Amino acid sequence: MPTYRAPVADVVFLLNDVLGWERHANLPGFADASPDVIEAILGEIAKLAEEVLQPLNLTGDAEGCTRRPDGSVTTPKGFRAAHDAFGRGGWIGLAADPAYGGQGLPYTLAAIVNEFSASANMAFTMYPGLTQSAVAAILEHAPEAIKQLYVPRMLAGEWSGTMNLTEPHCGTDLGLLKTRATPSREGAYAITGQKIFISAGEHDLTSNIVHLVLARIDGAPAGTRGISLFVVPKFLPGPDGGAGARNAVSCGSIEHKMGIHANSTCVMNYDGATGWLIGEENRGLNAMFVMMNEARLGVALQGLAISEVAYQNAAAYARERLQGRSLSGAKAPAKAADPIIVHPDVRRMLLEIRAFNEPARALAIFTALQADIARRSPDEAQRRTAEDFLGLLTPVLKGVFTDYGFENAVKAQQVFGGHGYVREWGMEQFVRDARIAMIYEGANGIQALDLVGRKLPRDGGRAVMTFFNEVGAFAKEHEADAAMAPFVGPLANGLGDLQKATMWFMQNAMAKPDNAGAGSYDYMRLFGLVALGWMWARIAKAAMAKRQAEPSQAGVMDAKLVAGRFFMERMMPETALRLTRVTSGAETMMALPEDAF
Ligand SMILES: Cc1cc2nc3c(=O)[nH]c(=O)nc-3n(C[C@H](O)[C@H](O)[C@H](O)COP(=O)(O)OP(=O)(O)OC[C@H]3O[C@@H](n4cnc5c(N)ncnc54)[C@H](O)[C@@H]3O)c2cc1C
Repeated sequence: MPTYRAPVADVVFLLNDVLGWERHANLPGFADASPDVIEAILGEIAKLAEEVLQPLNLTGDAEGCTRRPDGSVTTPKGFRAAHDAFGRGGWIGLAADPAYGGQGLPYTLAAIVNEFSASANMAFTMYPGLTQSAVAAILEHAPEAIKQLYVPRMLAGEWSGTMNLTEPHCGTDLGLLKTRATPSREGAYAITGQKIFISAGEHDLTSNIVHLVLARIDGAPAGTRGISLFVVPKFLPGPDGGAGARNAVSCGSIEHKMGIHANSTCVMNYDGATGWLIGEENRGLNAMFVMMNEARLGVALQGLAISEVAYQNAAAYARERLQGRSLSGAKAPAKAADPIIVHPDVRRMLLEIRAFNEPARALAIFTALQADIARRSPDEAQRRTAEDFLGLLTPVLKGVFTDYGFENAVKAQQVFGGHGYVREWGMEQFVRDARIAMIYEGANGIQALDLVGRKLPRDGGRAVMTFFNEVGAFAKEHEADAAMAPFVGPLANGLGDLQKATMWFMQNAMAKPDNAGAGSYDYMRLFGLVALGWMWARIAKAAMAKRQAEPSQAGVMDAKLVAGRFFMERMMPETALRLTRVTSGAETMMALPEDAF
């Protein structure tokens, strides 16, 4: 049975020592989130994750979801009670507007909660996660009456949310979307069409399900400019606001899939279902982007979450499993063999995972903090910079974290040898669960295109220049500090590679767009390495200060410094490889005729 311990102490260190949480105390909602309060909140969610959600992970995977002949879907045993506890505990509305039943706490905290609960049980966490994203879109774009009617129930966990974009012929290319919306009675529309792969489309966790659906109003233009967003509840709200008559939306089937078995993935049929427009006509994609950006960060966190829990279990196993002797002489001579953790290659696998997890957590918190600043800061310039960072980093986190999440789950599985391949240890489930995060919310290749095609050139490259300046300034400020040399030297090299790759795109991708498409994935990974390296350098600086100030922390901080040096020595040099690939261009890639593949 796998186990999980939420990394509360690490988060507290990152917030207080690395990212300077107290500097943001003036933001609305932050005063209520003092370090003590945060620690208490994290302690509570850690308990829920470890004691309630994690024990349901293996059983939920084995049991899966079942569609009954009447179209209803049952979730695994224990999920309903866990969802009730999640709603009752206020976790769904942690960061939402108190005017609609939320707690108004920083979104950053909600992101941390998502990491912990997804480590414990990714399939479960998707249910409240989708509700949170749906609430974000409703609060941003819906008329007041809809907000009042839906949001408090959703935040309480009584109703849940979904997002319905995908259709059989249309995934990445939403311009092909066919679902229709026909104006019906006063202000409402009849929604007709089929959506596929809808996470949490039907289930037994809540008394109503609120679908956010993209559809084309009759007569709207073709392509992405003719798409609108609708709220379509499973049960139409009754006169008292509670769930009333059944709407014409149903689950046609559920998918039998590789992982996240405990999350229902549904074909949803809309047969003239009643829906209401959210946001402006034909501006549905814009409205949906609020939901998608939030959901993209949520999916990025799934990558980190699986990487963390897989690491914890692999490290514990490597300390116990006895095989072979250390190359430098027996380390456990009284035992039949040494634990496999003595072997450099096993350490390589463990350190590669850990050297990602720690800066990834820092970067996730940094990015979530930008979302808070962008929404809450009274200072316009500060809001603009935060928005720039958020826009730039969201595709990087989604693409890079979920790639590492899967790669690291495989590495952790490898530490178990054959025992990683069988069910009992839970490692093969982590591999299966992690895989989807690379695909949904926009496949990772599409994240890379978003980064290179949209985020880099936006506002004349303002966001990426700000990023370069921040990272460059940090490296410069510490270049004379000998203790920081193992960190800032490689960081400066990586940044140089990223700048060269960016310049190469500027000079070679305008005239030949295939050059951008051919290099975008490697560019995204290169960007991720530099961003993670930047976080490692900041962690190292804080760790050195902390071990001086608090000698009791020396062991923990020294371990961070070792993992950080490992990253700089063995992972950061990958920037040179990525740069070489970017600058090799598209010619060879595009040379083969289609029928030669
Ligand atoms: C378990 C699961 C849960 C899901 N949950 C939801 C949900 O809740 N709501 C929802 O609406 N959808 C959901 N999806 C759908 C998911 O978001 C899509 O599968 C995904 O966006 C990819 O679309 P597609 O499968 O049609 O692949 P395609 O769009 O056909 O893409 C196939 C491949 O081609 C690449 N590609 C496509 N276009 C381009 C391009 N222009 N340039 C370069 N490469 C390109 C892609 O990167 C991908 O690798 C879910 C899917 C799964 C499997």
